[in-house]
Amino acid sequence: MKYLSTRGSAPTLNFDDTLLSGLARDGGLYVPESWPKLTREDLKSLRGLSYPEIAVRVMAPFIAGSLIEDEFEKLVGDAYAGFDHEAIAPLKQLAPDSWLCELFHGPTLAFKDYPLQLVGRLFDRVLAKRGQRVTIVGATSGDTGSAAIEACRDKDSIDIFILHPHGRVSDVQRRQMTTVTSSNVHNIAVEGTFDDCQDIVKALFADLSFRDQYGLSAVNSINWARIMAQIVYYVWCGVALGAPERRFTFSVPTGNFGNVYAAYAARNMGLPVDKLIVGSNANDILTRFFEGGEMAMAEVVGTLSPSMDIQISSNFERLLFDTYKRDGAAVAKVMEKFRKDRKVSFGKARWQAMRKLFEGYRVGDNATKTAINDIYENTGELIDPHTAIGVLAGENVARPEGSVLVTMATAHPAKFPRAVEEATGLHPDLPPRLADLFERPERADVLPAQTNAVRAFISEQLAGKSAA
Ligand SMILES: *Cc1c(COP(=O)(O)O)cnc(C)c1O
Repeated sequence: MKYLSTRGSAPTLNFDDTLLSGLARDGGLYVPESWPKLTREDLKSLRGLSYPEIAVRVMAPFIAGSLIEDEFEKLVGDAYAGFDHEAIAPLKQLAPDSWLCELFHGPTLAFKDYPLQLVGRLFDRVLAKRGQRVTIVGATSGDTGSAAIEACRDKDSIDIFILHPHGRVSDVQRRQMTTVTSSNVHNIAVEGTFDDCQDIVKALFADLSFRDQYGLSAVNSINWARIMAQIVYYVWCGVALGAPERRFTFSVPTGNFGNVYAAYAARNMGLPVDKLIVGSNANDILTRFFEGGEMAMAEVVGTLSPSMDIQISSNFERLLFDTYKRDGAAVAKVMEKFRKDRKVSFGKARWQAMRKLFEGYRVGDNATKTAINDIYENTGELIDPHTAIGVLAGENVARPEGSVLVTMATAHPAKFPRAVEEATGLHPDLPPRLADLFERPERADVLPAQTNAVRAFISEQLAGKSAA
């Protein structure tokens, strides 16, 4: 499989280079040259298979030609072996035609483990085959950092440095990062805000000699391989609930648009999908866009669902690329305009075409809490604030008669105990394997919010190692 940049001027890459490069050199995101198809017969043949078996069948065409093609099945098996539910992504029924797909059975209790547990292994094996190593550097306000650390721990070809704002992430989130004591994992607590952390990471990537010397790389959701691994659970849900005979509506609590884009990709491959519901919190740029046709940036505000506190949804560019009939130059132009003016429209016909499939729905903090409580009272399921937004959005957006609603449960309630407790009076317990999280020793280095300090720290830790 070959991959193209959404901005049209970066070279076309194979899977391995797409995996390792993340963002394209022209600033675009990589997408597959064409969508592999799952016919009705293919979908039927997936019935009764396990999650890893379906994963291999769905992803095989995307990795065709990779150096790790031979070991892919084993890597997929390993990636999901440590999950704490036999089904990997179990489905729970909420109402006759309404289901939850639980995506929090991985090591850090949020859906990001589903792609990252595989992507960490893919990075490590491709790098080993090439005799290279990389240094992953990233900033986190919570969920992403712990999932990336768990994905990269103990990997010979990877060092990982994750910056978090000192004293400004929740105790559970911090401990999920700082209690990983593998020698290739480095937690940096920056004396500043999340924005300071992100600015430092950007500055490090902009320092080309530093970047090349240590082989800096990222595993954020712009990486195609993450999207690829997320397509799997949409197909899994569809097959489990009657595809190809039945049709589906997915409701997805959305931040960077990566997860819901994976549902769109599954539809392009042949899963019968009627509608995709984009749930937002008060940071509702996408909902405002689907309602009114203009994409306009606003200030980010803090909410009970912090993993969706985002204004620019990077993966939306992948949808735009198709909406602009894969004209990369046109996408580059419109994205440039968005950056400059902080708002942009794509024309009425394109907006309407997107609205045929996508619909946004905004849920504020109070409604989120009420939904957590209502769902607990009606179904006995305790859900986290992100999932609650998805469930409420799903209930409120109309869908075609007979379309089965599946809401993606993106985090375990114990990851956001305060909101859950405020809503229901119940304290959600951590699953047994994390029950001793608060007793484990922590390790982090506190540094000032200065690029130079972080650069010097990274060089010191990596003394003697360099990218081959
Ligand atoms: C990352 C995250 C989201 C947002 O997903 P995107 O792919 O960025 O849209 C939603 N919920 C939780 C719990 C997350 O960790």
